[in-house]
Amino acid sequence: MRLILLGPPGAGKGTQALRLVKAFNLAHLSTGDMLRAAVQAGAPIGLKAKAIMDGGNLVSDEIVIGIIADRLDAPDARRGFILDGFPRTLPQAEALDALLARKAMKLDAVIELVVDAEQLVHRIEGRAAQARAAGEPARKDDDPIVFKTRLDAYFRDTAAVTPYYRARGLLREVDGMAPIEDVSRAIDEVLGATTQA
Ligand code: AMP
Repeated sequence: MRLILLGPPGAGKGTQALRLVKAFNLAHLSTGDMLRAAVQAGAPIGLKAKAIMDGGNLVSDEIVIGIIADRLDAPDARRGFILDGFPRTLPQAEALDALLARKAMKLDAVIELVVDAEQLVHRIEGRAAQARAAGEPARKDDDPIVFKTRLDAYFRDTAAVTPYYRARGLLREVDGMAPIEDVSRAIDEVLGATTQA
């Protein structure tokens, strides 16, 4: 199975992606995770990306397309994958189509977690408070002001991605504000599958 999970930051994409990865034995292709790993490792891409990510802005299409192109070639991704956090712009969506066509791979579905922006800000404040309570350092980009920038980037750049997939008959919308189990169930229904929530 080859899936894309779309939705703004804080919509629960990570949670759902991890569940689907386990249920369907998919490779989890999260550009956010890959970029954070590159930052941690002090890799050249990480050095370029760090300040951009800390400010809540989007890393260049060229960088993320390059990362995904490499990752799609790995054996686990050939088995099936879920893209989490990519594509985030129209050029990324177009580049992905070209990459997949070259590899004779087809997408099965693009699932969008549809959310209310104001409620999302509350959700992200909760996430930061939880991290603080657990004594973990909160992610810099979960700072409420940075979060607002990330949300703006989503609605400015990524809003163009949903119509792209809708026009191809691949887009499936799911209410991302519902309780996690309900979101899980709705996604499973969309995929015509039954999994453990
Ligand atoms: P995420 O964990 O998916 O929210 O990603 C964290 C940060 O990584 C984003 O705020 C961006 O700065 C960067 N990033 C992740 N994926 C992409 C992408 N597809 N295009 C551009 N920037 C990205």
